[in-house]
Amino acid sequence: MPTPLDERKKPTAVKIHVKTGAGVDITWADGHSSHYDFAYLREQCPCATCNDERAKKESMAAMNLQTSPLLPMYKPKPKAQAATQVGSYAIQISFNDGHSTGIYSYDYLRTQCPCAECAAAFRSSTA
Ligand SMILES: [Zn+2]
Ligand SMILES: [Zn+2]
Repeated sequence: MPTPLDERKKPTAVKIHVKTGAGVDITWADGHSSHYDFAYLREQCPCATCNDERAKKESMAAMNLQTSPLLPMYKPKPKAQAATQVGSYAIQISFNDGHSTGIYSYDYLRTQCPCAECAAAFRSSTA
C-alpha cells in the first residue's frame, strides 16, 4: 500500500517517554502535536489479536450484552517497557503485560490522535 502524501500523517518529531511512563508525543508536518498515553495506545493496539478483541467487544455492545458489572476485571494500568522506531514509518511498543506485537504506523497514530479536532477529521461519519 503506497503511503499517501498527507502531511498530517508525517511526523516531524517523535518522543517516546518509556522511562517516565509519560507516553508518546508526536509533532506532525502540519504543525499539530499529539499526545498518547501508553494505556490509550495499548487499547488501540493495531495487531490482529487486539483487532479481533475490539471487534468482539463492539459486537457484544451492539447486541446489548453486558459483562457482569459486579465483577470488573482488575487490570493494571498498561505501561510501556520498551519502544523502538520501525524504519521511518512506525513505532513498536512492548507493554508490561507482555504484549509487543503492535506496530503503530504514524499514519494510524494520526488517525487515533485523542484530540477532538482529529476525532472530527479522521474518525467521524464512517461509524
Ligand atoms: Zn495487540
Ligand atoms: Zn489531534
